[in-house]
Amino acid sequence: MNIALIAHDKKKDDLVGFVTAYKVIFSKHKLFATGTTGLRIIEATGLEITRCKSGPLGGDQEIGAMIANNKMDIVFFFRDPLTAQPHEPDVTALVRLCDVYSVPLATNMGTAEVLIKGLERGDIQWREIVKETR
Ligand code: PGA
Repeated sequence: MNIALIAHDKKKDDLVGFVTAYKVIFSKHKLFATGTTGLRIIEATGLEITRCKSGPLGGDQEIGAMIANNKMDIVFFFRDPLTAQPHEPDVTALVRLCDVYSVPLATNMGTAEVLIKGLERGDIQWREIVKETR
């Protein structure tokens, strides 16, 4: 599966810790990330990750395009709800596209835990069917 990893600055430590904890599962999938988030995760885990531009410089939109083109199966997007983001419209657009295409999205650690366990259990296999039919 293709998995997107994005975290706002104050949430990067959380996402790095999360991916580190579930590295064995993540290593079985194709990973994409926004620039700085990807770098942080690569440094911490050594996982292979395709890095897009940094979020504020268009990275969120790059990942959004992948969602619109049916190339993204799961999105982990740890948002910071307490800090204004210069690229808020991009953030909103990314979340919106996940909803348009029914792409599983975790915006916080609580949901991320459920999503990663569901992924490992095969609960998201339906994405393969969606990919074939669209
Ligand atoms: P970054 O982008 O990984 O390059 O920091 C994330 C974001 O702010 O959307």
